[in-house]
Amino acid sequence: MSKCDLIIRRGRVLDPETDFDDVADVAIRNGTIVAVGDNLDAGADSIDAQGLVVSPGFIDLHAHGQSTPADRMQAFDGVTTTLELELGVLPVGRWYAEQQHSKRILNYGASVGWVFGRIATMTMQQVDSSIDGMGRATRDRRWVDNVASPAELDEIVERVRVGLEEGGLGIGFPNGYAPGAGMKELSQLCELAARFGTPTFTHIAYLSNVDPRSSIDAYTRLIGLAGSTGAHMHICHFNSTSLHDVERAAKLVSTAQAQGLKITVEAYPYGTGSTVVSAEFFSDPDFPARMGSDYESIELLADRRRLRNRADLMEAQSKDPGALVLLHFLDVAVNPRHRDLLDISVTYPGGAIASDAMPWTHANGTTYFGDEWPLPGDATSHPRSSGTFSKFLREWVRERRVMSLLEGIRKCTLIPAQILEPSTPQMRNKGRVQAGCDADLVVFDFGSLTDRADFQNMNLPSLGVKHLLVNGERVISDGELALAARPGRPVRRKYAQ
Ligand SMILES: [Zn+2]
Repeated sequence: MSKCDLIIRRGRVLDPETDFDDVADVAIRNGTIVAVGDNLDAGADSIDAQGLVVSPGFIDLHAHGQSTPADRMQAFDGVTTTLELELGVLPVGRWYAEQQHSKRILNYGASVGWVFGRIATMTMQQVDSSIDGMGRATRDRRWVDNVASPAELDEIVERVRVGLEEGGLGIGFPNGYAPGAGMKELSQLCELAARFGTPTFTHIAYLSNVDPRSSIDAYTRLIGLAGSTGAHMHICHFNSTSLHDVERAAKLVSTAQAQGLKITVEAYPYGTGSTVVSAEFFSDPDFPARMGSDYESIELLADRRRLRNRADLMEAQSKDPGALVLLHFLDVAVNPRHRDLLDISVTYPGGAIASDAMPWTHANGTTYFGDEWPLPGDATSHPRSSGTFSKFLREWVRERRVMSLLEGIRKCTLIPAQILEPSTPQMRNKGRVQAGCDADLVVFDFGSLTDRADFQNMNLPSLGVKHLLVNGERVISDGELALAARPGRPVRRKYAQ
């Protein structure tokens, strides 16, 4: 073969599609893997990977950061492709143009942001496609609470259809933030997704251990939508929205899957979630009974204060509805039963690991988009924005040996690729270490790989990733960030130019 640009020598190469797990060289040319084998021809440049693992870069289906600081923190967590699928964006074409202009470090992509279609149609508000923008839009709650009128429904469906035409990776349904949306609307949009052959990505409508409007109620609706419309329904953060009923939820989902319904799941390896203080599920007067925990389970991120009671919550909501909060839904550190519950979602067969990574924010609550490295000292987010994948591989694979390294890697790479590839053929070249695939690779020391971010220090990058290549270009080299690297490319469905 002709000379390659770069060769990764003698690493333990893992390819979850072919179950390859052996020492080999990996040769790269023009951003593509050209060969995997022994004694490959030396290239101009080489990486000595002896004693290290060479894995497909991790593919994150659920990443809200979508910025330079978010990309960099995820790079140290082994991520090479970071996708905003739960909330999505709108308009889709404009968002992709903006990312191209801002020059991204990791591969990026987004679904069509249904909720932004609702906000624009039902309240005329212009907000940017971000979790913060959605939070601010709750100042006019019609899009949260109301069933769309027939005219509004037509307009919402049309906006989403245009987003799919523009190459969105499916439809994002953060239904939990707009629980007032009717089933006529959702079923019509699921039919649209089925017609385009794209998945939908759902944050289920309800968050509760008890009926009515329980999490089980919402999962049953989602299963019904899969069966009645033929849409591929992807369940976001199965760990957080299932609360204490995850065992029951897993049973219902696996029974539905066994009947051939297109349902997939993802989870992140934490018992604490993060969202905006105005999130609808907090406002329910029965919140403590429905959650199985008190208002103290809600912590304001800016000043790290736990809420005391409902009055305290309502004051915080009116002061700054976009303020970010932590929600301690499973106390895994102290409660072994809660750890078992988290295991059910994290190890769910065929389920992906996905971070739900949040944007980086300053102490004053504004989002940080800057170029400083390391991140500014006051930058906070959620530890999952820094450590999801290394925490999962450290804790579940290395320390507790719940599954093999190859199985662990499969959940971070091949499974997320396969969730998208029927509608986004580009993903067939990701999540694999094979000739012809994209050179999105992470080279890490499995013995020392670890997350460092916790709820006190969220902006500590994970340790153990020695090299990270995105489209063949070095983003991390010998454990150091290449500050100028901007090799990220769009992941996008076919669209008319
Ligand atoms: Zn969510």
